[in-house]
Amino acid sequence: PQGATSTPDLTETHCPYCSLQCGMNLQPVTDDDTELPGGPDIPAPTSIVDGTGRPQVLLKVTRRADFPVNRGALCTKGHSAPTLLSSPSRLTGPLVRDRVGGKLRPAGWAEALDRAAAGLSRTRAAHGSDAVGVFGGGGLTNEKAYLLGKFARLVLGTSQIDYNGRFCMSSAAAASNLAFGLDRGMPFPLADIPRTGCVILVGSNLAETMPPALRYFTELRKNGGKLIVVDPRRTKTAAQADLHLAPRPGTDLALALGLLHLVVAEGRTDQKFIDTRTTGWPEARSAAMAHWPELVERITGVPLPALREAVALFCDAASSMVLTARGPEQQAKGTDTVGAWINLCLATGRAGRPYSGYGCLTGQGNGQGGREHGQKADQLPGYRKLTDPAARAHVAGVWGVDPDSLPGPGRSAYELLDALGGDGDPGAGAGADADENGNGNGSDGADRVSEDERVRALLLMGSNPVVSAPRAAHVEARIRSLDFLVVADVVLSETAALADVVLPVTQWAEETGTMTNLEGRVLLRRRAVEPPAGVRTDLEVLHALAARLGWEKGFPSDPEEVFDELRRASAGGLADYSGITYRRIAEGDGLFWPCPETPVTGVPAHGAAAAPDGAGATAGHQGTPRLFLERFATADGRARFAPVTHRPAAEEPDADYPVRLTTGRVMAQYQSGAQTRRIDSLNNAAPGPFVQLHPHLAERVGAVEGAPLAVVSRRGRAVGPARISADIRADTVFMPFHWPGEGRVNTVTNPALDPTSGMPEFKVCAVRLEPVLPA
Ligand code: SF4
Repeated sequence: PQGATSTPDLTETHCPYCSLQCGMNLQPVTDDDTELPGGPDIPAPTSIVDGTGRPQVLLKVTRRADFPVNRGALCTKGHSAPTLLSSPSRLTGPLVRDRVGGKLRPAGWAEALDRAAAGLSRTRAAHGSDAVGVFGGGGLTNEKAYLLGKFARLVLGTSQIDYNGRFCMSSAAAASNLAFGLDRGMPFPLADIPRTGCVILVGSNLAETMPPALRYFTELRKNGGKLIVVDPRRTKTAAQADLHLAPRPGTDLALALGLLHLVVAEGRTDQKFIDTRTTGWPEARSAAMAHWPELVERITGVPLPALREAVALFCDAASSMVLTARGPEQQAKGTDTVGAWINLCLATGRAGRPYSGYGCLTGQGNGQGGREHGQKADQLPGYRKLTDPAARAHVAGVWGVDPDSLPGPGRSAYELLDALGGDGDPGAGAGADADENGNGNGSDGADRVSEDERVRALLLMGSNPVVSAPRAAHVEARIRSLDFLVVADVVLSETAALADVVLPVTQWAEETGTMTNLEGRVLLRRRAVEPPAGVRTDLEVLHALAARLGWEKGFPSDPEEVFDELRRASAGGLADYSGITYRRIAEGDGLFWPCPETPVTGVPAHGAAAAPDGAGATAGHQGTPRLFLERFATADGRARFAPVTHRPAAEEPDADYPVRLTTGRVMAQYQSGAQTRRIDSLNNAAPGPFVQLHPHLAERVGAVEGAPLAVVSRRGRAVGPARISADIRADTVFMPFHWPGEGRVNTVTNPALDPTSGMPEFKVCAVRLEPVLPA
């Protein structure tokens, strides 16, 4: 149990990084600690003093074997996480910029907050509320995500808020909502994986991105279950599979349709399930039958015998799962692609049953909770729709405001970044940030957005879009052109370095808050150490800014107080947290939402299994580890098939750009690398980007192992040393995306958006390769 053993010397908490939210213990380093898990790179805390004026206490990570998700296992990122707490490269005081083009200089908190509030206020007064934007992050705690959404809509009165989670799992969220009426990444716990018969893992390299999760698949195979991995590369994860399907990037939708075609042709559908628990089968069936296996083989490059084998493994098992990650989701047709994989589950009766179903492996630490509490452009807390009058009335009631005063939906993340531009914007999208062919790219905001519609000032918290956004050079130009930028971060990220005001905030071990992991399990991260004297929590920042902008009340800085309000705001919504308290989380291993305050009686909400002990008023609702067992969360309780058909990538290879580029992550770095690039042991393990390509392709373009190779698209170029390997398709090239500068692969990626989810097409675009000759 989480709370049982926390003492002044040992704090049970969770990793600051990915959505697994591994449990760990933090303890002060003692003189006896000669070898620390994070390696020998932990610096002496000579320059950092905590809030009491003492040198900062160093922390080490120790095993926390009782937490069920990771049972003590951690990856190198988790082991080394405390290093950044005492790193000289963290921010320990606010910074301000006196004039455009001037340098950032140290400032006191009062000056920095005054400037931040004045800058936001000035823009709003001159250009209206929607000229001020807010950009959040999927790593923010639930409390921060909630308060940031409330701050945007009440204090700033703007509709222009979204967050970087839009770039993570938004397509899976949209597809799950369409199919099941509810999006909780995994509608069952990870512990169900070893108990199923077959898993198709689509576009996830979890052996590198979340290594402790690999044990669930190892146990699956030990139990006789089968693992099928879909990935254009033979990754560390694919190497563990019973069957590896390697489609061309951008063709996962056709692959799923081809498998469904074979399921139908071979009489493997579950007609009783289709008849009693779904709607829309005739249309979905017709769409699948138009995708002949031979056609699918041609589109995807996956041989027909492998397609047949996959269907046999999936259907022969008594229960099966499909789990997707960024591969199929980060496409301009990501929602339809995930919908096609859900169709496969529904047609075979592999959903809403024990040890069967569809799930999404969310990426960011709070990718799940971050999308539930109101920092998305179209949503209010509780996963409520901003356009729903009843939802507006409920949330407005909790906030004590008139529902009509709440703004409507805003732009999705890339559209918001694309619409940035202040008075200093020189080219309105057609100038310095034009692509290499000289066109301003008609898909971009400054062309599309009139001067009146520009977002001129931005408050950014927990994100680094200069590295992580698609068409990053263009996004960087848009950010540079802002009239005013405020960034709250723990380090001077590439985006923070462009700000007018930088507000240094606490790290995970210096603050308390809740996170919701990829299973929908709400967890408590605890403060283990006094923060440095010069930093504040994000909640304290929002509290102080709100006060300066006329909201003395309504923005508490105490996390538990914020959580209690969040519970009331979420009550009755899809993501109902009202029965979850800090105390209840601490008493167990977290609580799965929905967890209403009122015990469930009669027909359970969301098709969930009823709480096991009858959920008496004293015990409270026990949470909902498994969803949809009796009914789906749609109005009629039935899941909905998606009538989807294949279409090409937004940008297919041609004579000028003949190769497909796909992007992803490596084990020792996390997301934009703002944190992990500042940890020596991680940087030594993964010091920079690389270009992975097949020997045949290398020969064709004249690439030499280790020599610099440029990857060039219509939007720009990125350079990295060639890494020649037969573990990738010969028509595809791969680059990880954690680095800025000339190795920034997002300079190259395509911002074509999924029309439903707003997800950019990170996973496929057309490029050419050019060896870089010595100057
Ligand atoms: Fe942290 Fe994820 Fe690694 Fe676990 S797998 S230690 S949560 S980064």
